[in-house]
Amino acid sequence: MNTDGASKPPSLTTAPADYAVAGAAAAMTNQDQGHLARAVELARIGSQRGDGGPFGAVVVDAGGKVIAEGWNRVVISHDPTAHAEIAAIRAACAALHVFHLSGVTLYASSEPCPMCLAAAYWARIPRIVYANSRLEAAAIGFCDDELYAQLARDCGQRNIIMEHQPLAGALEPMREWAGNPGRTAY
Ligand SMILES: [Zn+2]
Repeated sequence: MNTDGASKPPSLTTAPADYAVAGAAAAMTNQDQGHLARAVELARIGSQRGDGGPFGAVVVDAGGKVIAEGWNRVVISHDPTAHAEIAAIRAACAALHVFHLSGVTLYASSEPCPMCLAAAYWARIPRIVYANSRLEAAAIGFCDDELYAQLARDCGQRNIIMEHQPLAGALEPMREWAGNPGRTAY
């Protein structure tokens, strides 16, 4: 594989130094509480409208400015991926014309499911603050906790059958992309 001249993809560990120092033990600030309350409000508004489940999310930049909001629209949009966090991340990236959101905080009314957590990783979001736990979501019928358990299993032990079938030529698009010095790495 020719990777000469390739720009190194951004690290998955992009938490700013000051956050790394503060860490998870940092006390909830008034600002955190306000944004979290807004996420909960979006959860109520969206679910009362019948858009989907009771989940809301807000993306806030390092200066405390709200970049985007989202709420669950799985039902109304017939989209199992239309989670609040995904909506907020998409709207924030669209607003800023970026595909990484380093420096922001994602506020979610409930603990993000594995899909949304992975989306936060893809977006290089360094901090997530949530109110309700995955167990509290499970208590009203949502499977976030079960999804975390599924992902912790070996491939052969999951409910979804996953078959690795190498195919002649399948690597070619990847090699071409990796060998293109003009590519946009993310
Ligand atoms: Zn989710």
